[in-house]
Amino acid sequence: MKECIFCKIANGEIPSATLYENEEFRVILDLGPAAKGHALIIPKAHHANLYELPDETAGHAMILAKKVITKMKDILDCDGYNIVQNNGEAAGQTVFHFHMHLIPRKEGDHAGISWTPGTLTEEDKEEILSKFSME
Ligand code: AMP
Ligand code: ZN
Repeated sequence: MKECIFCKIANGEIPSATLYENEEFRVILDLGPAAKGHALIIPKAHHANLYELPDETAGHAMILAKKVITKMKDILDCDGYNIVQNNGEAAGQTVFHFHMHLIPRKEGDHAGISWTPGTLTEEDKEEILSKFSME
């Protein structure tokens, strides 16, 4: 993907504040952080989103997320962590190269990663349960 900015960052063509790098991933600080220490896990191979990500890479990404946040929570002395991963424009994805957001949280911060809970209606529940199958 010649014009993909995260391909260029992950592969070192564009410099970034790199926390960690291995053969498969680069972990960088987000330039527009939701909170201090907001990092991104970016695979070096181009996959637009989670639907297209190979299972093995998805597994490795989650294990890496665990390692990074475990370390970072001590360094920043944070109270919690959000892992956010957007797929599709409607979900807020702006860079169409799979990435995971690791967002450190402090009590009372205003990082704003929240939603207003609705209600699970009988209709929605029946519709989804009747249509969904992992077969
Ligand atoms: P998303 O909206 O989930 O696609 O997230 C894209 C993220 O990439 C945003 O949080 C941006 O702040 C971040 N971002 C975009 N360009 C860069 C860059 N050159 N270096 C670091 N972070 C970036
Ligand atoms: Zn890419």
